[in-house]
Amino acid sequence: MRGKLITLEGIDGSGKSTVAGKLQENPAIKAFEPVFTREPTKGTLTGDAVEKAIQSDTDQLAELFLFTADHAEHLAKIVKPALEKGKIVISDRYSDSRYAYQGITLKTHLENPLEWVKNLHRDWTIVPDLTFLFDIRPEVSIQRCGKRGEQSKFEKIEFLRKVREIFLRLAREEPERFIIIDASRSPEYIEKEVTEKILEFLSRN
Ligand code: ADP
Repeated sequence: MRGKLITLEGIDGSGKSTVAGKLQENPAIKAFEPVFTREPTKGTLTGDAVEKAIQSDTDQLAELFLFTADHAEHLAKIVKPALEKGKIVISDRYSDSRYAYQGITLKTHLENPLEWVKNLHRDWTIVPDLTFLFDIRPEVSIQRCGKRGEQSKFEKIEFLRKVREIFLRLAREEPERFIIIDASRSPEYIEKEVTEKILEFLSRN
């Protein structure tokens, strides 16, 4: 039987990586021997290219193609093989991050970037079985991140506000796939809620 793909999504500083780390140590989750992974992928040609692009002044469309190449590589090398073996895969960021972020960054290049980027993925991506959206106000998330990033605080908040709106829209469009998590609470509380929801999902599917 094909495994299950669970993704963690949300704006920068919403606490995805923190909770992913906690889930890796959580005995109830560990019992399923899940594969933990992330996008951009770590230590790969495509993942490194994405990291370099993010940190330099790369054209937004070029950046999208690097992210998309990394998604293809992630699917081919990690996600698909694990799902075929019947594994549970938990990914810290995945395709919805691209729809939400590039849905904003490509506004200067394209008329309807969200639909365009979704179409680009449609025929070959694997849609997650369950997605947690870590929802939080950007004012709070960037406070948590401190000096991460180079944009001014105001620009960053304005940008993340728009990205958050797209994430919420995606969640509204697919309520059966998304679970919205109030990410302003403590990491322990969020870990507990996410764990419960994962166990509930796995018992049903
Ligand atoms: P993301 O992976 O979503 O970008 P991180 O997990 O890296 O976010 O968290 C960003 C920062 O916020 C880190 O310094 C982390 O310790 C802190 N943090 C994460 N979750 C919480 C939380 N629930 N409450 C307060 N601070 C948090």
